[in-house]
Amino acid sequence: MKTYVVYPGTFDPVTFGHIDIVERSSKIFNQVIIAIAQNSFKKPLFTPDERKEMMSKALSHIHNVTIDSFEGLLIDYCKKKECKIVIRGLRAITDFEYEFQMALTNRKISDQFETVFMMPNEAYSYLSSKIIKEIVSLGGRISQFVPEFVEKKLQEKL
Ligand code: ADP
Repeated sequence: MKTYVVYPGTFDPVTFGHIDIVERSSKIFNQVIIAIAQNSFKKPLFTPDERKEMMSKALSHIHNVTIDSFEGLLIDYCKKKECKIVIRGLRAITDFEYEFQMALTNRKISDQFETVFMMPNEAYSYLSSKIIKEIVSLGGRISQFVPEFVEKKLQEKL
C-alpha cells in the first residue's frame, strides 16, 4: 500500500529544520505533500507563491515530494487529497503544548487522521522561521540555518 502524507506549515521561509523533517519523511513514506498554509494567523512575510518557490528549490533533491498550498481547514485539505497522515516537526519542548492541542483538536473534528511527529537533527531543534527573520532584520548572517538563496530573499525583503 502506498502511503501519502501531508506536511503542513507556514514555511515563512523554509529553514534547514523543515528540510530535515521532509528528508526523514520521504525515506519512510511514498509521497510527501508539502501543504503551505495560505491563511496563516502568523501574517507571513512572503506570499504563498514566494514560499512555494523557495520550498521547491530547497527540496529539489528529493524526488517523492509535491509542493502545494491550501486554504481553510487542514482536515478538509487532507480529505481532498485522500491522505490520512499528517506530519509535524517537534523541536525542543516549546512545540509540545501547541502541537498536542492541534493534533487532538483535529482528531476531535475527524478521527480519520493521525498526526505523526518527527524530531529534527538536534542542530536544528531550536531553529524557527521567526528567529531567522529577526536575525536578518538586525543585520546578522543566517547561512548555517537556511539555503543561500533563502538568505538572499530575506535580505531583499527586510
Ligand atoms: P506552522 O505555522 O504550521 O507552525 P511552521 O513553518 O512554523 O508553520 O512549522 C511547520 C512545521 O514544521 C511545524 O510542525 C513545526 O513544528 C515544524 N518545524 C518548524 N521549524 C522546525 C525545525 N527547526 N525543526 C523541526 N521542525 C520544525
